[in-house]
Amino acid sequence: MKVLVPIKRVVDYNVKIRVKADQTGVDLANVKMSMNPFDEIGVEEAIRLKEKGVATEIIAVSVGPQEAQETIRTALAMGADRGILVKVAHEVEPLTVAKILAGIAKAEGPQLIILGKQAIDDDSNQTGQMLAQLLGWAQGTFASKVTIEGGKAEVTREVDGGLQTVRLNLPAIVTTDLRLNEPRYASLPNIMKAKKKPIDEKSPSDYGVDPAPRLKVLKVSEPPKRKGGVKVKTVQELVEKLKNEAGVI
Ligand code: AMP
Repeated sequence: MKVLVPIKRVVDYNVKIRVKADQTGVDLANVKMSMNPFDEIGVEEAIRLKEKGVATEIIAVSVGPQEAQETIRTALAMGADRGILVKVAHEVEPLTVAKILAGIAKAEGPQLIILGKQAIDDDSNQTGQMLAQLLGWAQGTFASKVTIEGGKAEVTREVDGGLQTVRLNLPAIVTTDLRLNEPRYASLPNIMKAKKKPIDEKSPSDYGVDPAPRLKVLKVSEPPKRKGGVKVKTVQELVEKLKNEAGVI
């Protein structure tokens, strides 16, 4: 069974992002980029399925600039078998990515596609769901456990206030939540081996997709700065401040 793992190159989660002075977006100059953390979890899950003998081949796919090749190499060093880079120089919207992934799924015939539940740059949380719709496949989103057996996938989902377990017919879409697993670090020998693994380069037109944006970002702004706290001496003072200053009681 082939497993497709879409991975996005995003600003590293440790970077404190800066909004551009003209508020048109986030400043990406000299900023460390990494694999979206939820996608690392997706790669790890696919590798674990291969180690269990369930998956036979793992294909890591990224839609993005030439540099996204480094992100694919990271997935190959973790244990993916080959990569596909679909080159787009500008920002791509979830629907564009979903259409490209649908084209790749039709060409490759995977039984499972494991995406992240969201990319931490745009927080869209859309691509997996749109892809399931385009392919007409079942989906298990926000997965914290995945088991494949007898041509079905059992997915435990993190929902508000608890867990929900669903059974999906394969082929299916799964999106990862934080508690699904802890991704491994690539070892040095595996980083070396990954250099020899193949990465195909494609363009959106290979899948009949026009990557032109449909949305225009009007404004990006930073969250309001937090004001400093104060220490109160008594409960009475606290209640007085909550009533008269904060206006919350
Ligand atoms: P989003 O819908 O943008 O929050 O992204 C959800 C998931 O879709 C990500 O965690 C990735 O698995 C996948 N994805 C989104 N954008 C891309 C991209 N440009 N290339 C590859 N995978 C992507």
